[in-house]
Amino acid sequence: MVRDINSLISVVMPVYNEGKHITSSVETVEEILKNANLNYEFVLVDDGSTDNSWEALSELAVNNGRIRSVRLSRNFGKEAALCAGLDETKGEAVVVIDSDLQHPPELIPEFVRIWREEDADVVEGVKSDRGHESGFYRGMAKLFYGLLLRLTKIDLRNASDFKLLDRKVVTAMQEMPEKITFFRGMSAWVGFNRKKVPFEVKDRVEGRSKWTFSRLLSLAVTSITSYASAPLKLIIYLGFLIFAIAVGLGIQTFVRYFMGASLEGFTTVILLLLFIGSAIMICLGIIGLYLERIYHEIKGRPRYIISRKIN
Ligand code: UDP
Ligand code: MG
Repeated sequence: MVRDINSLISVVMPVYNEGKHITSSVETVEEILKNANLNYEFVLVDDGSTDNSWEALSELAVNNGRIRSVRLSRNFGKEAALCAGLDETKGEAVVVIDSDLQHPPELIPEFVRIWREEDADVVEGVKSDRGHESGFYRGMAKLFYGLLLRLTKIDLRNASDFKLLDRKVVTAMQEMPEKITFFRGMSAWVGFNRKKVPFEVKDRVEGRSKWTFSRLLSLAVTSITSYASAPLKLIIYLGFLIFAIAVGLGIQTFVRYFMGASLEGFTTVILLLLFIGSAIMICLGIIGLYLERIYHEIKGRPRYIISRKIN
């Protein structure tokens, strides 16, 4: 099946404090789309920027009928901004790309070609080279994705948010009811016919990454608690382990008692107390993480709130 060459392609860009370069970045991307003769629209989502990003986005939208700009009422985070962007798109296919040009826009026509000609529903950019990320960050990413693959069978190694999604994939993702989202996880979970395209991560055009260590950590916790229940099962295994140790120690205690030498064992008591105490705390913490997820989901608050919209 070959899809229509005139299909509308929606390009979604999340924008958070990118005011210095966003206008030229959008122009760069638009130039590429024009040269490839694509029928396109832009959906630019201002994720509650505190700089002049919204002024830039509204000017872009006012001057260009193909650009729609949306402003969220506060900083909801990239994942929510992407959801907001998807909900605003009208195209047959949606391309999601960072606004700092770290994802090479030159690849968009190639994504579209693969979508049209090779019957792919999802075309995903995979990082062939993680750019100038530090060794520490690289190691953490590897650890996290390894853990996620083990626990959830979802393979996100070197995955990025640079993707083309067919309309039916977008609809499938919109039908997922969860309020706290993890874009990469969702787009992997829905399945469909997928093709991968390697790309090299470039340097940011301007400014610094908005992902602090604590934000990344909370993203990691969110994604594991949304896609895996393995940590909960781990608690049961830990319980069995402690039970086995308890049986062993219990037998030893009895034997000693009947041999009339039961006064020793103070060290054992202290060690057991510390060990079991910390095990219980950790287990409660894990249960707490899931409880927190349920709590947030059950409140049913919207994923994002829109405060302004142009076009
Ligand atoms: N971003 C966003 N909301 C946020 C943080 C980031 O919409 O709270 C956007 C940001 O403007 C950029 C993209 O998400 O277009 C990726 O962000 P960044 O470059 O900071 O992350 P990195 O490239 O380091 O993963
Ligand atoms: Mg970036």
